[in-house]
Amino acid sequence: MQKAKREFFRKKLLKMRAAILDKAKKLKEDSYTLGTDGIQDMADAASNAYNADILMSLSDNDLNLLKEIDSALDKLASGTYSVCEECDEAITEKRLEANPVARYCINCQRMIEEKGIQ
Ligand SMILES: [Zn+2]
Repeated sequence: MQKAKREFFRKKLLKMRAAILDKAKKLKEDSYTLGTDGIQDMADAASNAYNADILMSLSDNDLNLLKEIDSALDKLASGTYSVCEECDEAITEKRLEANPVARYCINCQRMIEEKGIQ
């Protein structure tokens, strides 16, 4: 992969990373606000519980994505980015543009999904 292209993906990954951290910060502020309301009726209590669930599932997904982004950034630094972790073939740039944290080429990804292994 050419240097300019690597830089393109690095910036893209850093942007994704910043967006998640920004979201996490906002979510934290929101959950703090939720907990400091004085008087609550039944509807409020229910909606707070609902929100808390969403916050938890979101942070799990985001945490995973954050790990994937960090791993992709590591690979960019060590020169193994865009190489399939399964078969060592190149992952197409088109695929990486759609999913910058892709670890496998399209063929291996399909095989892994069919086997049900993550
Ligand atoms: Zn592969």
